[in-house]
Amino acid sequence: MNIHEYQSKEILRQYGVSVPNGKVAFTVEEAVEAAKELGTEVCVVKAQIHAGGRGKAGGVKVAKNLDEVRTYAEEILGKTLVTHQTGPEGKEVKRLLIEEGCDIQKEYYIGLVLDRATSRVTLMASEEGGTEIEEVAEKTPEKIFKEEIDPVVGLTAFQARRVAFNINIPVKLVNQAVKFMMGLYTAYIEKDCSIAEINPLVVTGDGKVMALDAKFNFDGSALYRQKDIVDMRDLEEEDSKEIEASKYDLSYIALDGNIGCMVNGAGLAMATMDIVKHYGGDPANFLDVGGGATAEKVTEAFKIILSDEHVKGIFVNIFGGIMKCDVIATGVVEAAKQVGLKVPLVVRLEGTNVELGKKILAESDVEIVAASSMADGAEKIVSLVG
Ligand code: ADP
Ligand code: MG
Repeated sequence: MNIHEYQSKEILRQYGVSVPNGKVAFTVEEAVEAAKELGTEVCVVKAQIHAGGRGKAGGVKVAKNLDEVRTYAEEILGKTLVTHQTGPEGKEVKRLLIEEGCDIQKEYYIGLVLDRATSRVTLMASEEGGTEIEEVAEKTPEKIFKEEIDPVVGLTAFQARRVAFNINIPVKLVNQAVKFMMGLYTAYIEKDCSIAEINPLVVTGDGKVMALDAKFNFDGSALYRQKDIVDMRDLEEEDSKEIEASKYDLSYIALDGNIGCMVNGAGLAMATMDIVKHYGGDPANFLDVGGGATAEKVTEAFKIILSDEHVKGIFVNIFGGIMKCDVIATGVVEAAKQVGLKVPLVVRLEGTNVELGKKILAESDVEIVAASSMADGAEKIVSLVG
């Protein structure tokens, strides 16, 4: 789960990590009011969307007076920002962060991420702040320094110091930088983050170490014990189909293709996407209806797949283990009728009660193309979609 920059900064404050003063604003009036309250000479008007790269896309503006705050707030609020992280459709800005302007001496990068190769939280840092870390990794990998963190001991001060020296934090400010990293790490662990990225971390003219940007991602499996994080959720930033799916306990991820896939089991869902790709098609989604899907769940899954206007065909690939094929077949027929299916539907069933399941499909008046195997099904749906 993601949250906005201003929310990430609230968390950082709780952990003693310095961030500029700022306030969230939902309207132009609130933005001007917030700037008045801050009372600083220079204010920064920042678009709040769940994506980075806002600066380059015109979503971060420095205002020198209240009139400029108003102008920029009017310009950014309601605008659809297209950054390298939003995809071509962009994201509409509905919130702003009005923040005090900061006298930046130099920008750095600090991030914490779970490294799956070592199964450890890893601190990454670079003196090439502001730019995308992926770009730094590609062009100048020697400028990224890493510290693997022992989960029992946690981030140690000497590791943080080593990082601070490696990225050339001015010697006088190393202790502040260490305190910053320790606070960030504690926040990461206590809030069950999967990513905490500060880009840029800055050193200011008056000798402070601060987070100018903050991006936190949280481990969805830990949200049950992070009520305050769940309260920060902004549903408008999330895919409406994914929200709908989570209501029915379906694992659904929207993708860019045009073949809707309905599968049970995450492994089979991955394999199904692979085989669709293998035959030259593009999956429109990842969808795992789970082991114990009911006819109702199958119907909802169908509706979600079809609500995606890019979907030009559906491939149902079900292995009936715990779940019986006849139940699935009934669900598929029911759903196809309810939603008034207009795109080709290929179904491959295997497992418990498969014969009965196939019979139900064959006897229904829904137009269904039966597949004898996974490969056969993938080939058929790809050719039907064209
Ligand atoms: P994004 O990563 O989405 O582009 P950032 O929050 O990193 O957004 O802002 C982009 C750039 O804008 C920063 O690298 C920094 O140079 C500048 N900036 C952001 N916030 C401030 C601020 N409070 N004061 C001065 N400059 C800022
Ligand atoms: Mg940034």
